[in-house]
Amino acid sequence: MATKTYDAIVIGSGITGGWAAKELTEKGLDVLLLEAGKNIDPNKDYSEHKMPYDVKYRGLTDVKFMEENYPVQRQCYACREYNHHLFVNDKENPYTTPADKPYLFLRGRHVGGRSIMWGRQVYRWSDLDFLANEKDGIAIPWPVTYKDIEPWYDYVETFVGISGMKEGLPQLPDGKFLKPMAMSCGERIMRQKIGEKWRGQRVVTIGRTAILTEDHKGRAACHYCGPCEQGCITRSYFSTLNSTLPAAQATGRLTLRPHSVVRGLIYDKDSNRVSGAYVVDGVSKQELEVKGKIVFLCASTLESARILLNSANPRYANGLANSSGVLGHYLMDHLYGSGASGEFPGLEEYPDLGRRPNGIYIPRFQNLKGKDAKYLRGYGFQGGSHRAGYLGGFQLPSLGSSLPPGFGASLKEAMKEPGGWSMSLSGFGECLPDQRNKVEINKTMTDKWGIPAMHITADWYENDQTMYDEIRDVGAEMLEASGCKNVRTFGESKPAPPGKGIHEMGTARMGNDPKTSVLNKWNQTHDIKNLFVTDGSFMVSSGCQNPSITYMAFTARAANYAVEQMKKGEL
Ligand SMILES: Cc1cc2nc3c(=O)[nH]c(=O)nc-3n(C[C@H](O)[C@H](O)[C@H](O)COP(=O)(O)OP(=O)(O)OC[C@H]3O[C@@H](n4cnc5c(N)ncnc54)[C@H](O)[C@@H]3O)c2cc1C
Ligand code: SF4
Repeated sequence: MATKTYDAIVIGSGITGGWAAKELTEKGLDVLLLEAGKNIDPNKDYSEHKMPYDVKYRGLTDVKFMEENYPVQRQCYACREYNHHLFVNDKENPYTTPADKPYLFLRGRHVGGRSIMWGRQVYRWSDLDFLANEKDGIAIPWPVTYKDIEPWYDYVETFVGISGMKEGLPQLPDGKFLKPMAMSCGERIMRQKIGEKWRGQRVVTIGRTAILTEDHKGRAACHYCGPCEQGCITRSYFSTLNSTLPAAQATGRLTLRPHSVVRGLIYDKDSNRVSGAYVVDGVSKQELEVKGKIVFLCASTLESARILLNSANPRYANGLANSSGVLGHYLMDHLYGSGASGEFPGLEEYPDLGRRPNGIYIPRFQNLKGKDAKYLRGYGFQGGSHRAGYLGGFQLPSLGSSLPPGFGASLKEAMKEPGGWSMSLSGFGECLPDQRNKVEINKTMTDKWGIPAMHITADWYENDQTMYDEIRDVGAEMLEASGCKNVRTFGESKPAPPGKGIHEMGTARMGNDPKTSVLNKWNQTHDIKNLFVTDGSFMVSSGCQNPSITYMAFTARAANYAVEQMKKGEL
């Protein structure tokens, strides 16, 4: 294996690695896909149809085991007794932070990466986002505009299958949608009341989600079983395993190698190119070398930066392709953790929608035309309206879930009765790029495979805090305007630690100037032309939309560019 030179090596098989593998193989390249973690067998590893009685702790988890092995991952809402094997073992994958600045690096390590557990919410960016840095004089300008990316959004969405509703909003461009999921009655009332009160400025729409509402490209429509973070045997939501990997495999040009932990990239100083990767076998811990003509780094924002920093050599002493010195810096996440909830009276005669795996979305409405808020940029809301009680009785339990009151016979009686309607709204805010937020290499700690670990420093600053505080009050205001009662705000005085939004991005930003950016507008490193980085590392600002569809669009675009350049003999 070490002797074969592949046309391309893709590192990481998550959302972006799956796309790189699909695009490069479909365009004729012989591709080696390296994945640090194990293979996934949907028949054994997916658990979306398991019931509480199928697992030892009835869904409430072995708290001691989780505290010992998954102290970080257990803080993710999606990490449960049913699926903790889809999250990394924190003991084997350590990292450090300053004592007063916790960072939650929430992730998986297996074929498919976080595409198996992700929340599937997809929202396009607009020029409000791509032009924001330039307009505000923050960080550096994006080297692309919406016009450059729009065809690639179209392209990836057509393959992925996104359900959603067209709204014609300039700040949230419509996409290629399958039919939308239905809104519950509480959500429909909110859409109407908010629409009336803010006359189109604030809009309540159904979540745009990478879940099929119709059969699509050989995959079955969703049957609303509910806990998607545990896998999907009918392949109804988009993941590497459900979508891009089968497409890449169908070409006959993909070699997938799980248990392949990339320690660093092989650099050839004579040609100033990368020629492959140093891989530690995840099981035997033996090191091997693999060779490729081009390399696509898709190991996720923090891990890709770590690989480049760990690949330092005499020519690039501060990290490979880091002549700018910005590699590892400008780490961002979304501001998360504050919002409001309330009761929705008067809807008792209406049934709930069951386990619809989606909620509603309120696109950003602040600072759209000029500055009308106390901070820069803005936030959107995600949330939903449901019935408690009856539904609660059938929910997969988790600590803190709202079950009907009572025990034994009285609990069973109570479960027959549908409870009241409630509504909640939770904000996702844009975080400004800041040089102080960064990932470095910890010089004294290694992971289970002997590879130097990360030291992550990230915090929230004034703009974030001001926005975070407003989210609570505005969420409550909109619930009240919709007719909710007993409205309560939630969220600690400070935002949840960075990382909790699970949208880390920005450690190898793109730009036109090689002195201030790592990548050019094609996700190609300025320094080494056969090296591409297409996970969230390239992001120059964070928007407030869930970012993965943007990563997919840029990855497909970069792969197309790389193959064109190869064909022209320029790579
Ligand atoms: C619970 C949850 C909910 C989320 N909800 C949403 C959402 O609604 N919308 C949205 O847009 N995003 C969401 N996200 C975020 C989304 O999952 C990520 O943005 C996306 O997966 C990033 O893609 P990626 O390819 O960069 O990384 P990943 O999908 O994390 O894949 C990286 C892969 O690289 C592998 N790897 C790492 N290091 C190495 C190495 N050294 N050698 C070889 N392989 C390596 C990993 O094992 C992994 O398989 C959510 C995430 C989680 C966990
Ligand atoms: S996408 Fe639909 S069918 Fe698949 S796990 Fe989620 S709810 Fe179930």
